[in-house]
Formats: sequence, structure tokens, C-alpha cells
Amino acid sequence: MRDQAIVIVGAGQAGGRAALTLRDQGHDGRIVLLGAEPSPPYERPPLSKAYLTGERAADDFTFAKTAALDAAGIEFRPACVVAAIDRRSKTVRLADGEALPYAKLLLATGRAPRRLPLEPAVAERVLYLRDLSDADRLRQALRPGAGIAIVGGGFIGLEVAASAVALGCRPVVFELLPRLLSRIVPAPIAAFLQARHAAAGVEILLGARLQVITLSGDGFELTLADGSIVEADAVLIGIGAVPRTDLAEAAGLPVDGGIIVDATLATADPDIFAAGDVCAFPHSMAAGLMRLECWKNADAQGALAARNMLGAGEACVDVPSFWSDQYELTLQMAGVPERGERTVERDVGAEGRLLFHLDGDGRLVGVSGIGPPALARDLRLGQIMIERGLAPDPAALADPGTRLKALLR
Ligand code: NAP
Repeated sequence: MRDQAIVIVGAGQAGGRAALTLRDQGHDGRIVLLGAEPSPPYERPPLSKAYLTGERAADDFTFAKTAALDAAGIEFRPACVVAAIDRRSKTVRLADGEALPYAKLLLATGRAPRRLPLEPAVAERVLYLRDLSDADRLRQALRPGAGIAIVGGGFIGLEVAASAVALGCRPVVFELLPRLLSRIVPAPIAAFLQARHAAAGVEILLGARLQVITLSGDGFELTLADGSIVEADAVLIGIGAVPRTDLAEAAGLPVDGGIIVDATLATADPDIFAAGDVCAFPHSMAAGLMRLECWKNADAQGALAARNMLGAGEACVDVPSFWSDQYELTLQMAGVPERGERTVERDVGAEGRLLFHLDGDGRLVGVSGIGPPALARDLRLGQIMIERGLAPDPAALADPGTRLKALLR
């Protein structure tokens, strides 16, 4: 592969990890990492939490600093816009006209926040949260005493609500559906989290159909379909994220809610791979293609794509898992809980909830929980059971007197 350039579009978790892994794996050819943002690759999870509250600085979670990239001989181009991919000549064309040849190309373009259709004057002033510059804007709005309207009771909305409370703000969450996190988090876990937010003073409006957002002085007025009006100093919108697939689509690569890849993360073009939030991939735990929008998947797939661009031919088999930290609680899930036909709850006391999800054959297909960080150990053991395809005795799972570790045998 010497002299063979590997070009990576996207310098987020997947792209940055891929670049570092290529060198770690001994690739001695050219590596070009193209990032749309001005910063070198950083981890996004702190953006809604410790970065907002000022407990962590960006440098802390920049995992591929410019000096480290230079030392590894990785050509990092920040603030770089890619205009097109020409698959015939195997080149990437940049917005300034430069053409970069590639032997292998990785698309790690991630997702962009889903925008709410709004009047231009309002659209200009509402906030979204995806990157460091968004977080900087949001930080300025989170002044003590400020009323913060949060549209969307998903992960962004709830993590920001917890941070806003820590900063002395008054958050109000507007969720369209009758409960929080209904897309992937089991109801008892979401209810536990909702109660914690309520105890912290977060107002949560469920089934809240937003009709219009208007400007009012320095702030906003949010009018709901039932006619009620909520005033706010700032508005944050967290209503999901859409994959950045334009380049892939324009290059004629198949896309379906994400760039379609095979189990090795190769697209329909064997010289082009995709990894992280932007791809839709086959997985033994999913009936159709799976899409995962979380740090862990981006990191693991970045590394996997790098190995496979060097010819490893490994399949993506990791059991999906993610976490969300809010207040003193950690919410964690592994596997695919919605595939469960039976749910078994283990009593972990009043401080949390822990659920095991079994399929029709009694195999563990998901584990979900919320509670103090110590609960992470039990969730990890559940994840190992899923990885091993175990069918643990439901009564033993439910019995807090039975050590979960004993069920691994
Ligand atoms: P999200 O977690 O998908 O949640 C968006 C929520 O907003 C959903 O409950 C959605 O309902 C609701 N919604 C949609 N349209 C709405 C509207 N018009 N009014 C009110 N509510 C509306 O997305 P997110 O919170 O924006 O986060 C963006 C991405 O970052 C996601 O991919 C998320 O997984 C990821 N993220 C992950 C973590 C983590 O892993 N800890 C943390 C932060 C962000 P529907 O489900 O019906 O659309």
C-alpha cells in the first residue's frame, strides 16, 4: 500500500479513529484526513455535559491533536469542504478545485441536526447542538436564571436539560410523543429518568405539539397546539439527526437512511468504505440494516474500516451499546432490547432499574438500566451474556441474590 493514498472524509470520531488506526496497523502510505470543522478530531459526548458545565476543556477530549497527527504523518486538513467524489478517476474533488487521488476512500461524514422549519428570523436565533461551535453558542445562553426551551425529549434535549439545571437555568422540555426516549429506551427506564428530571426542577411537557416559535423582545414565545404559550430566553432544538449522505448519493452509491455498506463496511464500490453515524450496515441482531448513532459505534467502526481498507476482511459483530450520563445517573443499554419478547426486571433497589430482554427462545438479546455508575458492572455482564448468545434462567436473572457473574458459565 506504499504510495497508495487513503483519503478520509470526515474528521469526527470515526474518521479520526480510522486515521490513527491505519498508522497503528502499519500502513506506510499517504493518509489524508479532511475535516469540515476547524478543530482536529474530538469526542462529542462531553459537548452536552462536562463541556457545557465548564468542567472539561476541549483540549481534554481532543483525541487526535494536531501535533499527534503530524507526528504520525497524517495530513490533516481542517475546515476543508469536499465537493465531489469521482469514482472513475478515483479522486476526491475539494471545493477549491484541488483533486486528491485515493486508493481507498472512507466516508465518515456523520450526521447533522434535523432542522425545524421556522421563520428565517427565528431560525437564525434558535440553537442546535452537534459540534464544538454549537456548544460554545449554547454555553453563552445557559446563564443562571435563564429560561431554556428544549424542543425534543431525546438524548440531546435531556442531557442539556441536566447540564442547564447544574448551571442554574430553568429548562422546559417539549416532547411530541406521550413519553420520553420512546424510540429506543424501554418505558420503565425512561419513566425513572423523567422522575429524576422532575425532581431536579425540569418541566417536561409530553405530547407537546409545537405550533409556532416567535421572537419576543430578546427572547422567544413558544405556542403549543392547545393554545398555551411558554416564554424562553433561548431555544435549543434536539429533534434527531440526519445522515450526511449527499456526497455518496451524488457518486451513485446506494443510500437508505445511511450509506449502505456490507458487514466489512465496504459500500457498493469496493474502494469506498463508510463508518459511524452515516452508515447503514447489516448485523446479526437486526432484521434489516442497522444504524447506530453513538460514540462507541463510531469509534469501533472507524477502527474496523481502517483494518478492512488494509485488507483484513473482518465483519462488524460488536453488540451495540451506548450510555447517557445525566445527574448522578448513568443510563446504559446493550444489544437490541426491542427484539425482546419477555422482559425480566432485577431488583436493584430504589436507586435504579435494571431490565433483561429475552427473545422467544429465551436468549438474552438486550439489557437496559439506569442508576448509579456502579450499575454499569451489571450491564456489562448482561452485554457479555448477549455476546455469548446465552439463555440465562429468568428467575436467576431476576433474583438479586444470584450473582450475575455466575450466569456467565
Ligand atoms: P434523538 O435522541 O433521536 O431524540 C429526538 C427526540 O425529539 C425524539 O424523541 C423525537 O421523537 C423528538 N421529536 C422529533 N420531532 C419533534 C418535534 N417537532 N417536537 C418535539 N419533539 C420532537 O435525537 P437528538 O436528541 O436530537 O440527538 C441527535 C443525535 O445525537 C441522535 O442521533 C442521538 O442518538 C445522538 N446522541 C447520542 C447521545 C448518547 O448516546 N448519549 C447523546 C446525545 C446525542 P421521534 O422519535 O418521534 O422522532
